[in-house]
Amino acid sequence: MDVRDYIDTNAREFFDQLKSWLAIPSISADPGHHGDVRASAQWLAGHLTSTGFPTVEIWDTGPAGAPGQPAVFAHWPAQDPGAPTVLVYGHHDVQPVEPLDEWHSPPFEPAERGSQILGRGASDDKGQVLVHTLGLRACLAAGSQAVPGAPPSAAPPVSLKFLIEGEEESGSPHFADLLRSRAGRLSCDMIVVSDTTMWAADVPSMCTGMRGLVDAQIDLRGAETDVHSGSFGGGVPNPLHAMAALLAGLHDDQGRVTLPGFYDAVLPLTGAERELFARLPFDEKAWLADAGGSQAAAGEAGFSTLERVWARPTAEINGMWGGHTGPGAKTIVPSQAHAKVSFRLVANQEPADIAVALREYVATHTPPGIEAAVTFGGPGVRPAFSPLHSPGVQAAKRAMERAFGREVLFTREGGSGPEADLAEILGAPLVFVAVGLDEDRIHAPNEKVEMALLLRGAEAVAYLWADLAADRAGITAAR
Ligand SMILES: [Zn+2]
Repeated sequence: MDVRDYIDTNAREFFDQLKSWLAIPSISADPGHHGDVRASAQWLAGHLTSTGFPTVEIWDTGPAGAPGQPAVFAHWPAQDPGAPTVLVYGHHDVQPVEPLDEWHSPPFEPAERGSQILGRGASDDKGQVLVHTLGLRACLAAGSQAVPGAPPSAAPPVSLKFLIEGEEESGSPHFADLLRSRAGRLSCDMIVVSDTTMWAADVPSMCTGMRGLVDAQIDLRGAETDVHSGSFGGGVPNPLHAMAALLAGLHDDQGRVTLPGFYDAVLPLTGAERELFARLPFDEKAWLADAGGSQAAAGEAGFSTLERVWARPTAEINGMWGGHTGPGAKTIVPSQAHAKVSFRLVANQEPADIAVALREYVATHTPPGIEAAVTFGGPGVRPAFSPLHSPGVQAAKRAMERAFGREVLFTREGGSGPEADLAEILGAPLVFVAVGLDEDRIHAPNEKVEMALLLRGAEAVAYLWADLAADRAGITAAR
């Protein structure tokens, strides 16, 4: 039986299994649902065992006194001990479901509507995780098709490890620690991440990077208290003026960020990437409508909108406050000014370097008589990036093209996630293979997934494992 026949024959059973998993409300952000997150991990562990994985474990996370939500690990060694090892990353926790009254069917009573399955987690990320077990079963069933009448393969063509996290939707607070403490068992030649989206159902694409993130609060303080603007105004520094100037100076007139050395480490877009981005059918009007009805595109000069949000770093003022904001007038020189700012980073910017640059920028832009403090929300998130011509990306592109019967284009994600930790701590390249769509309403009411895309995704990973086994030299040399 070939891969596609196997998938079509088993599609009904696959969707029924997905629906039973989607019925478990594994909302990691809600302590009232932590029992469900564990039940979801147990469901997945049972499913992986019945798929044939000889090793399946539920890994608890977090310190003993304040445990986190469990991840699921599974390992199935290849028949050939020299085959490459691939780690599949996804997550089994889901976003909260409020506002409930906007759902057309209850979020944890998964429903089929035409070509779609509706339910929380259908696209992000349970559907995309299950793609891998269906794909693996198809790969095994097709393994010996070259020899008529031969039994299916007893083991996959590459050594497969799964790490399916239970805290991704709560910011992965224990994920880096888990990776460090289990790095030996998670060692691999390549990491396949299935938690992103394709451009469109008829435009298959692969993501090749995600932006990093640094966030900070800036506090400026002048006098000990607010003072009368008649008695003192014009004679003492005003922290809100200083803050406004400092924030206005974050960009030059070309829309470039002015922090010292901000662009030094930025990996420039290649001509090939720019050409591929430009071939995506991008409707800027529709994109602006999605952007909260924004009235115009804006950003760094010399780059297209997609380049700006995917491949260029940014500085954003998230909020600013201070002084009198109540009704009527209050003629004061305020004593304090505050602002929250954040920076999206791209390869190869380091969050720690950007933090140093922000401190230096604030220090040089704070006038005499005002004290400044900069506080960071955390260590930040590193950007993630997979070069287009890496063997893993090229193998996944071939597999996707075979499954979809179309050329695969490339995208990136403007957002940030735990993927950079995976690459950094495990020391292996990332390859993003995903079949979600931006229109899947992830994190929103009425999340859905396209059933046909899940099946094509399963087909793609079945081809991918076989392709990687054939090109093992390329994959292991790329590490
Ligand atoms: Zn996700």
